[in-house]
Amino acid sequence: MTTCEYANIIIDISHEKVDRLFQYRIPERLKGLIDIGSPVEVPFGRGDTVRKGYVLELTDEANWDPSKIKEVISVPKDNLCAEEISIKLAAWMKKYYGSTMIAALKTVLPSTKKEARRVHKYVSLRMNLREATEYYHECVSKKQKARERIMAELLATPDDRIPYELITGKLHVTAATIKALADKGIIRVEEEEYFRKPVAGDSSRYGAKVLSQEQQEIVDSFTKDYDAGKRDTYLIHGITGSGKTEVYIALIDEIIKRGKQAIVLIPEIALTYQTLMRFYRHFGDRVSVMNSSLSAGEKFDQMERARTGDIDIIIGPRSALFTPFPNTGIIIIDEEHESTYKSETMPKYHAREAAIELSKLVPDGASVVLGSATPSLESYYRAQNGQYHLFELKRRLTGGTLPSVDIADLREELRTGNRSIFSRRLQELMEDRLSKGEQAMLFINRRGYAGFVSCRSCGHVFKCPHCDVSLSEHRGGRLVCHYCGYEEPMRKICPKCSSKYVSSFRAGTQQIEDEVKKFWPSAKVLRMDADTTRTKGSYDRILSAFAAKEADVLVGTQMIVKGHDFPDVTLVGILAADMSLYASDYRASERTFQLLTQAAGRAGRGLKPGNVVIQTYEPEHYSIQTASRQDYEAFYEEEIAYRDLLRYPPISHMMSVQILSADEDEGMQFANRLRAMMELSKKEGAVFIGPASASIGKINDVYRMAVYVKMDDYEGLVAYKDMLEKTIRGLEDAGQMKRISVQFDFDPVNGF
Ligand code: ADP
Ligand code: ZN
Ligand code: ZN
Repeated sequence: MTTCEYANIIIDISHEKVDRLFQYRIPERLKGLIDIGSPVEVPFGRGDTVRKGYVLELTDEANWDPSKIKEVISVPKDNLCAEEISIKLAAWMKKYYGSTMIAALKTVLPSTKKEARRVHKYVSLRMNLREATEYYHECVSKKQKARERIMAELLATPDDRIPYELITGKLHVTAATIKALADKGIIRVEEEEYFRKPVAGDSSRYGAKVLSQEQQEIVDSFTKDYDAGKRDTYLIHGITGSGKTEVYIALIDEIIKRGKQAIVLIPEIALTYQTLMRFYRHFGDRVSVMNSSLSAGEKFDQMERARTGDIDIIIGPRSALFTPFPNTGIIIIDEEHESTYKSETMPKYHAREAAIELSKLVPDGASVVLGSATPSLESYYRAQNGQYHLFELKRRLTGGTLPSVDIADLREELRTGNRSIFSRRLQELMEDRLSKGEQAMLFINRRGYAGFVSCRSCGHVFKCPHCDVSLSEHRGGRLVCHYCGYEEPMRKICPKCSSKYVSSFRAGTQQIEDEVKKFWPSAKVLRMDADTTRTKGSYDRILSAFAAKEADVLVGTQMIVKGHDFPDVTLVGILAADMSLYASDYRASERTFQLLTQAAGRAGRGLKPGNVVIQTYEPEHYSIQTASRQDYEAFYEEEIAYRDLLRYPPISHMMSVQILSADEDEGMQFANRLRAMMELSKKEGAVFIGPASASIGKINDVYRMAVYVKMDDYEGLVAYKDMLEKTIRGLEDAGQMKRISVQFDFDPVNGF
């Protein structure tokens, strides 16, 4: 509660108007009642009509003539409303991650673009099962893939309607195909008024499973806490297929029974049709989904449905956290270790931390449930410390055995004369699988490193003139920058030493595809990387084609290790496991371990046993060794010791002050000045590093550098950030920050 003289208020809380602030004086009698986020009644406009507004800032500085500033009338004591919660959350973000209040508010407030027409559309079968089955077989034999997919889905749940968006979205059936089927009388498309009450509320009629003992214990323990008024953060550590999703569904059931709502966060890339359908089957119309392919209007509608009680559950990526339910009871974060949960724009918040903060702000408090096969070091560390409650799911319910893993030492391969990108072991297993008609996945870490072109004589690397990254060779003899799109023709002669030995590092996804075709000409290959998934829907299309066994081999970047289940994949090859170990940040080992474990987990999901080959130049590295044994605890012990030694998060905290400047020297000088300022007011235990050029030193002709501060005390870092922000604001007002901008990143997750 404040002792400040003035409150800066927004009257109209909407995306477009958040930067219109109005100042009011806080009368003595209200001082104990006002806080950031508080709703207030104020006289507004010429006629001094009474309007409701929200406090965004508190200050002792008058913006103009103090005698002309009007007074706040009252602080209505409503229940905490959604707006107030959003403003409090934004204020927290601004403080703990650094940004303007406006940027923070824009992050937490849903967009307000309305959809003109408000109907739900559903698709259902219009013929009996026998006829539908016959038609399905007809589609299969005619190879009408889209029709086959929609029919298969409708046949799986003949009594249900499937939401139209799910068919056009995740199933990738075009509106034209749906119309054709409807015109033939095979399916029915229904429309329903938007806010009509959905079908009778007994949602648990679909497909609820009898939980295993391990699963039931989690649900019981959670509900016992919940009913005793205890709100906590829980971490479910369980390999893929151990039944986490089923537990989430059971937990949501319990929460809904208690009149509350649920937010489920899933990385966008794992928002597959199968996962969504499991929720839809169970909760019917009470669930909705948010994702980046929805239009602003559609997003707005989902938010309205949440606000008005039309739905109880929202599923979506990071931003779904800001769904304005009246009574959020549980926030679930699946695959909580994913780096996409950290925002890459200011405020650079982490959805896990923001969820925990939000859970304290909502009426009655909410509980947070994190799930992962490879928990982030943060979460596991906190679970070890008792800050989070740890649950383990140890058994895989899908059957199948863990794959057997070989580590191929690439140095040894080279020594013994194998110059191809496939180790001997991998070649052997590929032949075996192809001859048996089984499927294989070949996986390469990260595109950024692959396909770069250099001179083998002098070592010259072809780089983008605008960005500090190497260019990649693409088919058609072009060199392309993946950051800014710059292109130039591939050159045959080295511009530095004029030698003819210019070639690309043969490990990009495209090169692997070529190589597979060379080794096994009859194999059908699909490739998935940022290039082949540029258009909308192509990601799911490639995965569905592979799932439908339209190809023998799937080659790809880390995208292929997530989401879909492929029962016929019995071989996974990881072509260069250590690529991500070279990435220059302290999370490189963690990321490598997670990727390898996930990739290895793709083999042998069905009944046939699987093999994994990890090719590496560093076979003895602990992240490779532990991943090959799928031994999370052993990895954690090694990694946490390393973090402890170097005082990295989660043991300590780190703030990265990121400077972007059109002029390199000016940027460096400024970075040095910021560091000097912090050192002058040195706080106990603070360690400074840099300034140094960022791992990508230049993008689009803007130079990037960073100063790092490590400190055990997060609040100490916040104090440094506040100090720098104040200085920067002063310089901005003086017009001295035109060519430089500064960003903050706390406990960074994404490289800079
Ligand atoms: P995860 O989310 O950990 O990958 P899922 O919840 O998806 O695991 O479960 C894996 C598979 O096991 C799914 O096909 C699911 O339907 C099935 N499953 C989960 N729990 C049970 C259960 N109690 N009884 C039978 N099958 C289950
Ligand atoms: Zn050269
Ligand atoms: Zn570029």
